[in-house]
Amino acid sequence: MTDKKRLWHKRLNDFESFDRIELQVVPRYKTSGMSGDEWRQHVSVKFYFKGEVVHETGWNSMQNAMMMLPGEWARAQEPIPSRIIEMEHEGFCDQPSCPNQAEGRFRIKRETSERGAWLHEEESRYHDSYRQFCKFISGAEIVGAKMLTTTTSRSTERAPTSPPMSLSHRRAASSSR
Ligand SMILES: [Zn+2]
Repeated sequence: MTDKKRLWHKRLNDFESFDRIELQVVPRYKTSGMSGDEWRQHVSVKFYFKGEVVHETGWNSMQNAMMMLPGEWARAQEPIPSRIIEMEHEGFCDQPSCPNQAEGRFRIKRETSERGAWLHEEESRYHDSYRQFCKFISGAEIVGAKMLTTTTSRSTERAPTSPPMSLSHRRAASSSR
């Protein structure tokens, strides 16, 4: 018997798969024996996660792209692109749109539901969850070689405004309620 818990990466409650979406008209020269060669308009649509293109598509006009985008946005993350999963495993910072490598993992010492209510401690009996950020907060405890420290899932909620990166990271990793 072992009491060693598994360690799971837990996304922020308001995690979104894409932090940047670009629509751009790009000229395309079409060759065709049927209708002849001609310049055609093409709208390239790129979905980014932390600076990398993780999904790509396109339409023949900006109008069509705008109208089709909501459906494409939903489909493109069912399931979440595998590259995003890889990047999470590679240790990219959990702060939305931050492209840095995380410097440490923060163990969530007390879990909340998605609505913010505290969960019973038995809910995390068989595994520990962590989040990862690119800066250590001052006074954070670094535990062993895994560089684990503690936070709570509730304390990772962010304010609606976007504070400077250092402030938002501090709140995201804060260990106090
Ligand atoms: Zn970061």
